Amino acid sequence: MIGLDCAAPELVFGRYLGSMPNVARLMDQGTWGPMRSSEPPITVPAWTCMVSGRDAGELGLYGFRNRIVGETGLRLATGADVRVKRLWDWLGEQGLRVAPLFVPLTFPPTPVRGQLVSGFLYPGGDEPWCFPRGLEADLEGRFGRYQADVDDFRSDDLDRIYRDIVAMTEQHFEIARFIWNEHEPDFMMMVEIGVDRFHHAFWRYIDPEHPRHESGNSFEGLGRDYYARLDDHIGRLCAGLDDDSVVLVVSDHGARAMHGGFCINDWLIERGYLALRKPIEQTGRLSHDEIDWGRTKAWAEGGYYARVFFNVAGREPAGIIPGAKVAALRAGLRKDLEALHDDDGAPIPVQVRVPQEYYLQTRGFPPDLMVYFDDLKLRAIGSVGTGRRVLTENDTGPDGCNHGWNGIFIMSGGKVTRRGRVEGAEIYDITPTVLGLFGVERPPGILGRDWSR
Ligand SMILES: [Zn+2]
Repeated sequence: MIGLDCAAPELVFGRYLGSMPNVARLMDQGTWGPMRSSEPPITVPAWTCMVSGRDAGELGLYGFRNRIVGETGLRLATGADVRVKRLWDWLGEQGLRVAPLFVPLTFPPTPVRGQLVSGFLYPGGDEPWCFPRGLEADLEGRFGRYQADVDDFRSDDLDRIYRDIVAMTEQHFEIARFIWNEHEPDFMMMVEIGVDRFHHAFWRYIDPEHPRHESGNSFEGLGRDYYARLDDHIGRLCAGLDDDSVVLVVSDHGARAMHGGFCINDWLIERGYLALRKPIEQTGRLSHDEIDWGRTKAWAEGGYYARVFFNVAGREPAGIIPGAKVAALRAGLRKDLEALHDDDGAPIPVQVRVPQEYYLQTRGFPPDLMVYFDDLKLRAIGSVGTGRRVLTENDTGPDGCNHGWNGIFIMSGGKVTRRGRVEGAEIYDITPTVLGLFGVERPPGILGRDWSR
């Protein structure tokens, strides 16, 4: 299973397909189509949903960072936050040899029945990044210092970023080829984060529909170049597979042009939900020390979507909203959000989700409201003092790309039915499908459809 983080159906199935002969062959001989991401469509929850068959609420993973009880801030998720079995656990229990490589939330590495290489949240330094540990020296001896991610991909040094992405992608596929040939796992899965980094750095240069795209810019051809490189790596990894082997090529979400961001905390201030101790002197991130908690009903965390938290008495360190009033606050704020306008008075389409209504369970610390602005065309800007409702740029560094709801799903080879293009695949389908391919009984309680049948 080859995971291309953020690979967009419009590119793989459309614009760049002509430069991807290996992927085109897999599609031609298999089943393929767009694959609906998780909610939220964000890397850390999405891959974990994909390999566990659980939704983000059940996993308690609402983003890269999550709240912990007793504090208002967020903490970066790690593999230790995954409290359910993942594909390789179930397969390993059946006596199969597994090799999850570079999958998000596999740091710190945990024992598997085979080899594991931690994914992109590996912090570097002396921390472990392989299971078994002996694999680290072997891989670094062959392929150089391990690159889990590219440094600082939201920067203006685009030539450097592209070089780093290409080198990292090459290293990852070399490691995967080595593990496949040397250790002969029954199930191998790799995730290439370079695709996501490429999109965030270069989307405005490669997408003619981006509002700040300039036709003929010097980076315009890089999209085709990078996707062709991916295709070449996929072809080399799959060369020599026997007739029983099944190849999946998947992504955790897609990509779309970022038109800007909605300044959610400034709006909460304007509407009287959020109060600060003193007037804002300059634009910057919302410091929780500056919040006047005694007068604050709600605040938000920015990102691809807004996570709105209510200042609930007994739950928050300085909570003021009695539990009995939470439902009314939620209904009122929801109504306000659904009537949003931009700075020029044009309505902004907003999708509001109540986690407790949407998910099967809500573990961990769910937001009180999840808010998507203009179908992900706009990010949620958490900074305050912007003086506007909508900004045309991201507040955390240059970025032309937001995530899209649909990733890709391709399955080809073995005895799987060749269905051609299909609609309706979902990220939750991958776990039951892979288990189905190995004839492993579906564990109780998991979501998704088995496409192997
Ligand atoms: Zn992703």
